[in-house]
Amino acid sequence: MRPYEEAAYGFGPIENLWWGRTVPPTNTPPLTQDHTCDVAIVGAGFTGLSAAYHLARNGVNVSVFDAQYPAFGASGRNGGFCCLGGGLISNSALEKLGGKEEVQRYRATELQAVGHVRQFLDDHNVDADVHSQGETLLAHTPRRANFEGYAREIEESYGVSPTLHSKSDLEHMGLGGRFFGGLTTPIGFGLNPQKYAWALLQAAQEAGACVFSNSAIVYIQAGPSVRLSTSAHQITAKSAIIATNGYSSDVVPQWMRARFLPVQSSVIVTRPLSEQEQQAQGWTSDQMAYDTRQLLHYFRKLPDGRFLFGMRGGLQFTAASERRIRAKIKDDFHRMFPSWRHVEIEHYWSGLVCFNRTLAPFVGALPKANNLYAAFGYHGNGVAMASYCGRAIAEMTLCHHSNSLPKVMQRIPRQYPLGRFRRNLLRPAYAAMTLTDLW
Ligand SMILES: Cc1cc2nc3c(=O)[nH]c(=O)nc-3n(C[C@H](O)[C@H](O)[C@H](O)COP(=O)(O)OP(=O)(O)OC[C@H]3O[C@@H](n4cnc5c(N)ncnc54)[C@H](O)[C@@H]3O)c2cc1C
Repeated sequence: MRPYEEAAYGFGPIENLWWGRTVPPTNTPPLTQDHTCDVAIVGAGFTGLSAAYHLARNGVNVSVFDAQYPAFGASGRNGGFCCLGGGLISNSALEKLGGKEEVQRYRATELQAVGHVRQFLDDHNVDADVHSQGETLLAHTPRRANFEGYAREIEESYGVSPTLHSKSDLEHMGLGGRFFGGLTTPIGFGLNPQKYAWALLQAAQEAGACVFSNSAIVYIQAGPSVRLSTSAHQITAKSAIIATNGYSSDVVPQWMRARFLPVQSSVIVTRPLSEQEQQAQGWTSDQMAYDTRQLLHYFRKLPDGRFLFGMRGGLQFTAASERRIRAKIKDDFHRMFPSWRHVEIEHYWSGLVCFNRTLAPFVGALPKANNLYAAFGYHGNGVAMASYCGRAIAEMTLCHHSNSLPKVMQRIPRQYPLGRFRRNLLRPAYAAMTLTDLW
């Protein structure tokens, strides 16, 4: 039982995924017999693979089970912004929860998450097509171009000095479009998410993890040991980790019911732009960027000259809603980059990100089940944070106690109202944000 139409969880949304053309497909065998391990991980995205890698290199007998194949979910289809984020919680809400120390700890966690991925790529010599010096926030209206207050907040939160840009600075920087000023935070970089995911998979397997594809877990029961099953086989593990994020079910395990809100996000990628086309638009930079809208757009020029442009997805997954979203994303892209109206859009795909009611990721043990763990809820920013939380949940599983994560990340997310119809909560939220975004 999942909140969207079944087609949202199938292959349709990624039929035309660009990343899939850049790396050979990687698959692992399915589970073909009953299985016993120390730790069973459900879901082979960044969270599950990172947890598996860290457990395996600590000598733990760990197995990962994915309903489809590694990085089938958001991890293999995101925009590749390895950046700050993971939650939407404000500093004032963090301060209420645990004082200034909580603010510092949470912001330091975001920073460490980005460093964690960089370190992994360096340690394993991974060529993941990395580019961009931090990321640039671009004002979509003149009113939004006043970034002074936000710049101070970034300095306080992350201890770095952002750079402010006027409209003409942006033009000189090769960031030309319908933008009225900007702010660059010197943290983060762009990467090819599938190249990164395959490197994580390989590292986990080399460290001794077993990874099974086409092995959907349909039942999980905590107890002295955790009992899991696929439709054909039983798995017994000392502990288990739920790493299914936006692709989670409301019943596997029952505890997940309505504690997560999957939200669709969509991406297009153009054919490679020639130098003249880049000059004509004034966008020649490979800096990754996003705009000041609440319903934001995120975009970057890929190393081969293609342009990636992403935004929110639809509220349903039907042929008609997909047509509407495709038309909308194309329309927004053309309005923001009018000189590229003639450029063919060769790739379109969509996927599910995951929100929860604490507005921060959850990493911890499920109540009344001290050997069943979960990590989810990266609010559309999980390249860095999911990888980091995978390691954090692995450490928790090893030590059987909660670690030094910020309090907000250890709070059990409450259930959303409306149960399995909760995606309808997004309708009024999107309408309000669309209005706010007008100025
Ligand atoms: C279009 C899009 C663009 C995005 N862009 C960015 C970006 O630029 N930067 C950024 O930081 N973040 C981005 N994100 C978010 C980021 O990709 C996710 O936060 C992150 O990948 C989550 O990783 P995960 O491992 O927790 O979950 P996922 O990668 O979604 O993996 C969950 C896995 O669980 C499996 N699964 C589900 N149920 C079961 C079951 N019962 N049994 C077995 N397996 C199961 C699924 O098959 C899936 O492979 C984007 C997401 C989308 C969809």
